[in-house]
Amino acid sequence: MAKKKIAVIGGGSSGLCTIKCCLDDGLEPTCFERSEDIGGLWRFKVGLTSIYKSVIINTSKEMMCFSDFPIPDEFPNYMHNSKIMEYFRMYADHFDLLKYIRFKTTVVSVTKRPDFSSTGQWDVVTESEGKQESAVFDGVMVCSGHHTNAHLPLDSFPGIEKFKGRYYHSRDYKSPQEFSEKRVIVIGIGNSGGDLAVELSHEADQVFLSTRRGAWVLNRVEEQGYPVDIVLTTRLKAFFKQVLTTSMVNQWAENRLNARFNHAHYGLSQHPTINDDLPNRIISGKVLVKPNIREFTETGAIFEDGTREEDIDAVFFATGYSFSFPFLQDCVKVVENQVSLYKFIFPPHLEKPTLAFIGLVQPLGAIMPIAELQSRLATQVFKGLIRLPTESDMMADITQKKDEMSKRYVKSPRHTIQVDYVEYMDELACLAGVKPNLLSLFLTDPKLAMEVFFGPCTPYQYRLRGPGKWSGARKAILTQRERIIKPLKTRPVGDYTHHTSVPYLFKIVGAVALFCLLLLLAVMIIKATDRHRW
Ligand code: FAD
Ligand code: NAP
Repeated sequence: MAKKKIAVIGGGSSGLCTIKCCLDDGLEPTCFERSEDIGGLWRFKVGLTSIYKSVIINTSKEMMCFSDFPIPDEFPNYMHNSKIMEYFRMYADHFDLLKYIRFKTTVVSVTKRPDFSSTGQWDVVTESEGKQESAVFDGVMVCSGHHTNAHLPLDSFPGIEKFKGRYYHSRDYKSPQEFSEKRVIVIGIGNSGGDLAVELSHEADQVFLSTRRGAWVLNRVEEQGYPVDIVLTTRLKAFFKQVLTTSMVNQWAENRLNARFNHAHYGLSQHPTINDDLPNRIISGKVLVKPNIREFTETGAIFEDGTREEDIDAVFFATGYSFSFPFLQDCVKVVENQVSLYKFIFPPHLEKPTLAFIGLVQPLGAIMPIAELQSRLATQVFKGLIRLPTESDMMADITQKKDEMSKRYVKSPRHTIQVDYVEYMDELACLAGVKPNLLSLFLTDPKLAMEVFFGPCTPYQYRLRGPGKWSGARKAILTQRERIIKPLKTRPVGDYTHHTSVPYLFKIVGAVALFCLLLLLAVMIIKATDRHRW
């Protein structure tokens, strides 16, 4: 039988792993990338709207790698964007992906063919060097990214039209030099706002960081010097989140974050932002945290608490991004960053499930392994090996997710595609048949089970079994801590660590006992909740 032809739109990190998943599953991918290179927004280029020169990723290498291609031992845990590009190029070379990509080719439209209800096929029109071409595909995987359209809410800022200084979106920021000795306002305290405020404050005379809700500030480096996502993204913690109440979990997290610095004293608190230097810049007065701006004047801004700052030279709107899919026209509707997709991947209303969105999530964690697992699931669906539920069941799942999000997050365009890393990965993995079976692991391979349950939930866990199983997964999990430590060992030092003399067997028995105890606790809590409900 002829291989199914799949159009992959975009050659960023999501597009790359999607091409590979198509190949792994015997599909025939053609990737269309409008620029001349891979890497999507991670490819820094002056003059090109992408990232700023200094961007260091905030997800660590063991948590952000593709699941069957660990990042080399010697690479730093938090990589500069140039290093990230190096990794993506290694991945593309290793799996020989470049030959499937048509660069400088923009997808301009994707429409159902007249016989779509029986074939599920699409007409894909592309444009390259002014010439349009059309081709038929059996499936389409949209990997066009969701951090490309600048969200510039000028309507919310009266007086901006009379402001005589310059204003920009954070997307247009490249480096701080031209703001030397200037007075700058940064609006928004997502990761962009935090990064810009810190970097600008080294050159500018004064930086004002305006936020309407504040943020919880996390450091990249956590307990014992491990990356924060390595410490926090574990199955054990995900389990606690399930059995404890939201307020208990929030209390634990807030106490932990406030132990480093009291967020209320620093004018902060709310959505998590990763920034190592922000508290230092605030305590040294180089960054002053301000409330939301009520209005701009010709020379400055008046804030909601009535205070005003004058002689402002520049304003950065670090107000995030919005997404759209202009090439899909009416097929998928996006309203205020809201889109209805089953598991954030599949439009529920199609007669045939031959369209998938990859990487269209905002995780508390890395996007790359999520995009990869989404692609693995989508290729199985395209091949007919996995059937999606009925439209009404998919809609019920979508509505439930939207309700959960609205209960948990403040209503904002940044909170429409929010997912928790472990929970969401496990959900996809269940559907794809690749979720690790902890009980059988504890019985057959306790050493591995311990690391899977208590250690970081690294992407390799989803290659231990099922379709796409990788023989290197076990070793990758058992050596992940070595890869974390390796780039730090650049000078020989004595071993000052205190080794416990608890024999390994005792550790395993202890772990199994703890596991059973937790299980018992969960059952008791669930029973108590049920009783309460009746
Ligand atoms: P992109 O990287 O945006 O790639 C999309 C590609 O599609 C582009 O190459 C584009 O040219 C192409 N394309 C779009 N439309 C078309 C079309 N019509 N035809 C042909 N080609 C098209 N995520 C993390 O996991 N960790 C981080 O630390 C992190 N840091 C970030 C820092 C910044 C400053 C920003 C803005 C985002 C960050 N992200 C981070 C999120 C980021 O979106 C992902 O890391 C990643 O880039 C997503 O890859 P992607 O391939 O889905 O999208
Ligand atoms: P973001 O996370 O969406 O944050 C936008 C900020 O702007 C929020 O503080 C938001 O406040 C505020 N905002 C939006 N509209 C506003 C309005 N009308 N008035 C006042 N404030 C408004 O956007 P981002 O910081 O650009 O981040 C985008 C993505 O890039 C994220 O995934 C982030 O993790 C990533 N990123 C990573 C790095 C890194 O790895 N180093 C650096 C930068 C960005 P509310 O919360 O109140 O809505």
